[in-house]
Amino acid sequence: MSKQDWERIPLSEPWFQGNEIAYLTDCIEQGWVSSAGAYVKKFEQAVASYTRSAYAIAVTSGTAALHLSLILANVQAGDLVLIPNLSFVATANAVRYVDADPILVDVCPDTWQIDVELVKTFLQQACSIREGQCYHQSSQRRVKAIIPVHVLGYLADIPLLASLAQEFQVKLIEDAAEALGSWDQDQHAGTMGELGCLSFNGNKIITTGGGGMILTQSESLAQRARHLSTQAKSHPDRYDHDEVGYNYRLTNVHAAIGLAQMEQFEAILMRKSEIEERYRNAFHLIEDGLSFPIIHPHTHPNHWLPTIYSPKAADIRAALSEAHIQTRPLWTAMNQLPMFQDCLYLSKEDHTGRIADHSVSLPAYMGLEAEQQDRIIGIISAV
Ligand SMILES: *Cc1c(COP(=O)(O)O)cnc(C)c1O
Repeated sequence: MSKQDWERIPLSEPWFQGNEIAYLTDCIEQGWVSSAGAYVKKFEQAVASYTRSAYAIAVTSGTAALHLSLILANVQAGDLVLIPNLSFVATANAVRYVDADPILVDVCPDTWQIDVELVKTFLQQACSIREGQCYHQSSQRRVKAIIPVHVLGYLADIPLLASLAQEFQVKLIEDAAEALGSWDQDQHAGTMGELGCLSFNGNKIITTGGGGMILTQSESLAQRARHLSTQAKSHPDRYDHDEVGYNYRLTNVHAAIGLAQMEQFEAILMRKSEIEERYRNAFHLIEDGLSFPIIHPHTHPNHWLPTIYSPKAADIRAALSEAHIQTRPLWTAMNQLPMFQDCLYLSKEDHTGRIADHSVSLPAYMGLEAEQQDRIIGIISAV
């Protein structure tokens, strides 16, 4: 039996080849394991400096980062928040945590990112501004925020959305959970809106086991984010609290892993880009409707998770699964989930549904060998 008959290739695998163990040992030896500890600050500084963000606040997850950002943007019960129909469910869930409702927006067929034209038409034709606030005319509900998601680490069109957000007095929160290492010219994903959210969940481009970060250029928002994430404690030693807060601070143990991951980040990005390029080059000549999301010339995505679109996605997944190669489809469209099926959906042709039903995410972890990748490519080409 040859190696490839039994060898299993997973979709993703974390990469701990740096100082992870040394820093974790240090945490345990020093006894600094909770949120008070030097690694939290060091990890925040490493991410802030890499992304060129003025402030970075470490929290327990990307979902917690989104929840706090919605509170910081003053999204309130009954408000409406525009989000793409194609995303991981956390974006839509966070909107519900503040008792607001998502308005789902279809994605562009070529980029898979939120369709800015649909957002623009909605704001121009279905909304009006009253006393500095944007209202959806037919429901008379306030449209308070837009959360574009940088789907798969490729860039949503933030510059265009930012000008719309400003014109219509709507807050812009970037869900950059998948986009650490993704740039729009010289601006990092998550630093162009008022607030940006990162995730360090297990399968993200770097991981802390679980964790997230809020990016902002505003000192007051940064201060309030820290405050809310530590139970809104308002006195250094007394248990005084001045509003309802959350236990959302990242621990020193998680941050220690994160710092070690950031030290290797350039190497991770380089390898990710090589892997995706190998896939893209290999599939370039297949004229069977197989495609990747297009990359805008002025953007530099992180190549987090190469994902193909193909009318034969189901056959491709079955053939790879037979060979013990793990893949996954993209997320089920938000408007197909029971909690969100009644939300307003802005769409002309439902590209989200088509993409969600015909996509395959391919293995692209650091330890993936060229020979293994060629095997994956061979199976897909055969299908
Ligand atoms: C992973 C992810 C999140 C949530 O991050 P967690 O750290 O898992 O809570 C939010 N949005 C998107 C687009 C994600 O991919």
